[in-house]
Amino acid sequence: MKNAEAVADVVTIAEESIPAHWRVADPREAARTIARIRSLARSRNAVLLAHNYQLPAVQEAADFVGDSLGLALEARKTGAEVIVFCGVHFMAESARILNPGKTVLLPNLSAGCALADSITPESLLQWKERFPDHTVVTYINSSAEVKALSDICCTSANAVSVVRSLPGKKILFTPDRNLGRWVARQVPEKEIVIYDGACPTHDVLRDASVDKVKAGHPGAVVIAHPECREDILAMADEICSTSGMMDAVARHPEARTFIVATEWGLLHQLKKRFPDREFIPADGCIGCRLHCPYMKMIDLEGLERSLRENVFEITVDEEDARLARRALERMMAVPRDR
Ligand code: SF4
Repeated sequence: MKNAEAVADVVTIAEESIPAHWRVADPREAARTIARIRSLARSRNAVLLAHNYQLPAVQEAADFVGDSLGLALEARKTGAEVIVFCGVHFMAESARILNPGKTVLLPNLSAGCALADSITPESLLQWKERFPDHTVVTYINSSAEVKALSDICCTSANAVSVVRSLPGKKILFTPDRNLGRWVARQVPEKEIVIYDGACPTHDVLRDASVDKVKAGHPGAVVIAHPECREDILAMADEICSTSGMMDAVARHPEARTFIVATEWGLLHQLKKRFPDREFIPADGCIGCRLHCPYMKMIDLEGLERSLRENVFEITVDEEDARLARRALERMMAVPRDR
């Protein structure tokens, strides 16, 4: 474990990119809280998994930080008794489904996902009735009930490979329309019907905003998440999942500046891994910084409480879990897109 001073330095690494109200008031106090959390995690035989969009201080407290696919793989293989998921509800559900013998905790029950909420079991059943001979591919950003009604899941890290791997030609892709359109362009040999959901954090971004940022940083490399709209993806040099963005930066050793079209939490990992590069949020506005309010509902205090009080335990209906596990396991057999 790093000493408190080193942790305090790292917690503040992305401060200039963080909206003011999210900044850690006292990095040394944050480092002390992280030390208590680590000690509690050891005593409870708990593993702390954090998504790349979490607050920098929460990322520093975690054992593993990654994208949805990486976190699902970690959740499935962990030998720890308790999984504390620093992410959003569907991620904790997936951990529970993949490793049903474990206690899975989500430190804040309000941490949902607007994209996952854009599809319900009822709405998926309506679409399945309209397209009965289609294989249903569902993004991992969905509830357990929706996964249970799907043939296979995918993440943004392996969506293209998942669709390509399917024997059938007709695909119903749910729920993210931007990701679905991007996949459809990569796999033209399939007939892909796309559900009409979106992530508001990514969908709000427009090419005019990114153009404005580019004008201030000529020569910068634009990296974008495929949940962004088509106009953003058309101007991106690299399109990839959050963890894939690390590799994308490594592919441009000559570039000093990167414009990042995804939720700002990722900038913390990018700055840690590439301290000599500059990372600029693509939104071009003063305060929103491509901000997902759900991902920022977990803080150090909530994380500590979760471990102390064993809250909030995530459970899944057994039959939904069985069917959703089948869709998730099929997904995990498919490698990352690159
Ligand atoms: S960034 Fe979008 S897809 Fe991810 S948790 Fe937030 S609302 Fe959901």
